[in-house]
Amino acid sequence: MQLKTWITTLALALSLAACQKPAEKTAAAPQGVDAARLIAADTNGEWLSYGKGYSEQRFSPLTQISAENVGQLGLAWSAQFDTDRGQEATPLMVDGVLYTTTAWSKVYAFDAKTGAAKWAFDPKVAGQKGFDACCDVVNRGVAIWKGRVYVGTLDGRLIALDAATGKPVWTVQTTDTAKPYTITGAPRVIKGKVIIGNGGAEYGVRGYVSAYDADSGNMVWRFYTTPNPTGAADNAASDKIMASRVSATWFGEGWKESGGGATIWDAMAYDPQLDVLYLGVGNGSPWNHLKRSDGKGDNLFVSSILALKPDTGEYVWHYQTTPGESWDYTATQHIILADLNIGGAPRKVLMQAPKNGFFYVLDRTNGQLISANNYVPTTWATSVDLRTGRPIENPAARYANAPSLQMPAPFGGHNWHPMAFNPKTGLVYIPAQEVPFAYTNAAEYAYRPGAWNIGLNFLANALPTDKAVMAGLKSMIKGELIAWDPVAGKARWKVQHPYFWNAGVLTTAGNLVFQGTADGRLVAYDAKNGTKLWETPTGTGVVAAPATYMVDGKQYVSVAVGWGGVYGLSQRATERQGPGTVYTFAVGGTAPMPAFVAYRMAKLLQGVSYDPAKVQAGTLLYVANCVFCHGVPGVDRGGNIPNLGYMDTTFIENLGKFVRKGPAMARGMPDFTGKLSDDDIDSLKAFIQGTADAIRPK
Ligand code: CA
Repeated sequence: MQLKTWITTLALALSLAACQKPAEKTAAAPQGVDAARLIAADTNGEWLSYGKGYSEQRFSPLTQISAENVGQLGLAWSAQFDTDRGQEATPLMVDGVLYTTTAWSKVYAFDAKTGAAKWAFDPKVAGQKGFDACCDVVNRGVAIWKGRVYVGTLDGRLIALDAATGKPVWTVQTTDTAKPYTITGAPRVIKGKVIIGNGGAEYGVRGYVSAYDADSGNMVWRFYTTPNPTGAADNAASDKIMASRVSATWFGEGWKESGGGATIWDAMAYDPQLDVLYLGVGNGSPWNHLKRSDGKGDNLFVSSILALKPDTGEYVWHYQTTPGESWDYTATQHIILADLNIGGAPRKVLMQAPKNGFFYVLDRTNGQLISANNYVPTTWATSVDLRTGRPIENPAARYANAPSLQMPAPFGGHNWHPMAFNPKTGLVYIPAQEVPFAYTNAAEYAYRPGAWNIGLNFLANALPTDKAVMAGLKSMIKGELIAWDPVAGKARWKVQHPYFWNAGVLTTAGNLVFQGTADGRLVAYDAKNGTKLWETPTGTGVVAAPATYMVDGKQYVSVAVGWGGVYGLSQRATERQGPGTVYTFAVGGTAPMPAFVAYRMAKLLQGVSYDPAKVQAGTLLYVANCVFCHGVPGVDRGGNIPNLGYMDTTFIENLGKFVRKGPAMARGMPDFTGKLSDDDIDSLKAFIQGTADAIRPK
């Protein structure tokens, strides 16, 4: 393929792919966070779990900050972290202490009123582990239970910390360290058990979720989401359902090499009355169903919502959003539990807007589908059949014989960024996006341990290279905040953002919706109609969701800011890149905002001497090793990882010193010693400089 054609193709592929009264203040120490208090957190002014309480509604009944006075919101305090990678955590606030995490699974405790640092804990994840993280070295937060704080680390550990001191109490390795498992999600604690999943399906792992005793760290149960490739029983909670229903939905050999995926890397919710734990399950591994399962079978529990008993891991029910999933359409997205009046009857529902673009309302007592309307354009399927619960697919969507340009992209109509449900407006606020992507079957796919194994050809000339068509495709990209009526199954209002990959959402009884943006703002909207009421610049792009809480009679809004995630690695929507920062706002707050930092980027690379004959070899090496973090040289302009087309000439001339045990290893740069030869590095230089030269305006 011509270099220029390839560059535009890849650039586009990547850029595309790319109410009760609030609780009285309690004087109890965090020792007091028990089952009753966690259950109460759903309806009071506390924020005790990732999604606030077990229902994960991210709705606060606090009204001190309201649509009337939000214009007077000002900074109460802020604190900066030692990393500029993505910040995805939602802070927890317990008895006047704010607990949050940062990239690299570090944990921090602050005085929630003043921001005074109480303690910090660094699990010292090796920088090399960053290579196993498809979607940045992020962490979404902690769980708290009886005087301890629990964090899952990028390298698969679950660590219990003393909430008062930050000192580790126990540590367990929840994963096989020889495999590319990662943990980025927040644990939850249910009745004295810490529930934790993991990720890694892009590289090739077998998904599961585990429960550990909060006191001792001993494993209580484990539930696998794909069959054991050896055919043996696992001696796990999933054994019975595997044998009776799951194994028969898998075919061929592809999944046996990769483990099949179906990782549980984010969503969890719990209904204490029904005593059922709900989990979101991720995409298949490899993505391509033809490669994974010979194009046959539903592949349970890929892209499913799974209901289990929290004491034993016993299977209760499942609902598969995308049978035979082939597009990275995970159903790990945020799950919200609520009681809605549907057709004149109260229903206990579960709501999810998974990547595939349909908004699902299920009866959470039995998993029965109530409704599934599309919240963004869904060209892969026209609708969901309410009788069978299955999508009605566009036959071309499986890209068996030809590429399929479709929506949503692997980015999803909605990704991990939390939604919020406001019982007063009856609306779910979805951080949504419309991004097209061309799915292309990899003619030659071979599983490579530890590498990207998706079974798609990112290099194929899959997309039109005609400039007008490309401009048309780019104009299809949207980032939006959708206020979704889950009973009517339609949007009530939308806010269009300048870019996609915007932040998670918070809603309150003060008739407010808070959301950060990719272009570096925190915004408050009227929850009823979407009118913008307040905004503040944040110095860098926001992806995490805010939390709100009351301390000593005063309401605060806290948000962790730091651009990142899979899109944020190589792309950005601001000209700033500050360190990760937690900002805490209050009405009348007068603390000064920290100084914002300009994004550092050299001019388009010039002057590295290279052999044009090596560009083609360099292209393949670059795609295999560099592109998912660094983007396309000169075409992309860098995210929280620099673009190599905008580096100083001397840096690229000395590329070998950076790729083999280089100085950026602690920041997550892999060590390519023994993997890239001198000749390979010359080819990479040829590709990087050749690409920069090819796109330089004449
Ligand atoms: Ca995925």
